Amino acid sequence: MKYIIKIYLLLIISVAIISCGEERTDDTVASKKHPNVILLIGDGMGLSQLSAAFYYGKSESNFARFKEVGLIVTSSAIENITDSGAGGTAFANGEKTYNGAIGVNLDSVAIPNLVEVLSKKGYNTGIISTSSVTHATPACFYAHVVDRGMQDKIAEQLVDSEIDFFAGGGTSFFSNRKDSLDLIKKLSENGFVVKTDTTSKKLDHDNKYGFLLAENGMPTMLESRGDFLPEYTKLALDLFSQQQKSFFLMVEGSQIDWAGHEGNADYLIAEVLDFDKTVGVAMDFAANNNNTLVIVLADHETGGFTLAIKDGDYSIIKPTFASSGHSCTLIPVLASGPGAESFKGIYQNNEIFHKILAVTN
Ligand code: MG
Ligand code: ZN
Repeated sequence: MKYIIKIYLLLIISVAIISCGEERTDDTVASKKHPNVILLIGDGMGLSQLSAAFYYGKSESNFARFKEVGLIVTSSAIENITDSGAGGTAFANGEKTYNGAIGVNLDSVAIPNLVEVLSKKGYNTGIISTSSVTHATPACFYAHVVDRGMQDKIAEQLVDSEIDFFAGGGTSFFSNRKDSLDLIKKLSENGFVVKTDTTSKKLDHDNKYGFLLAENGMPTMLESRGDFLPEYTKLALDLFSQQQKSFFLMVEGSQIDWAGHEGNADYLIAEVLDFDKTVGVAMDFAANNNNTLVIVLADHETGGFTLAIKDGDYSIIKPTFASSGHSCTLIPVLASGPGAESFKGIYQNNEIFHKILAVTN
């Protein structure tokens, strides 16, 4: 009898040891976690803008690293041609709405965004943008207002949002405001370490971080922006990967759109190459953290941009603009990582939200 009990105990102990060991292997921990999602939005980046990376880049484009490719129809609920408010809301909130809307539906009612839904599942969340962090595209991921022009209100909503990391321009919406609200102070009260210069990049993984690095939009690439977008993307990814939780990070190359409005090809190409480099940072991270879905897309095309032939000479490209506004040509979607195959096909822009939720379920 004693002998049998001993064997029985030994069995229990060895089962306990084996299952303990199993739980500690990284694979098991990774498969239990929801996938990380890095969503990179090139504002105004149609197929020709994306193609520019293949003709003007010094090295091979990081866009070439994706195997799964789809196309989205970007019209708003009302207009054929979308703005970044309705376009961002389609991605962030899953519904087509009217141009100018931020996180609200056609009836101007607030609808849940990815940051709100994923935070409830235990995700850390972040946004990085080369515009003000209160500009239309990033705003859709945390704010709900009836018009994109309400940037003071949008800033107030960032303070109270679920966002854990943000970087971009926009100090003018947080301090020295007409209503004299000091939102920098409020951010600190809500647990943010706020930085308005680039001197310190050593982050403590217990904190939330807000980088406000310009009064409005960040400088252009042709001016003095340097590696802001790839560097802060890496900074956010390093921080999130130390924090053990799954994460959602939205990164926007905002000024591809602004260059398109200006009809300035040099500006546009510099912004696309900067965005391409940032995509490389995301893909390198995903290569070492294989539970990470990377999606690259745009809200719409800007400028009716094309890589035309110059004076009948097949060897010379003449970047050409057809307009100073947005267009409704279909937009490429690139995806890599868990669930990437579900981004293939031709579908509506608001499907992106639902596809991301399906992958993170
Ligand atoms: Mg934008
Ligand atoms: Zn635009």
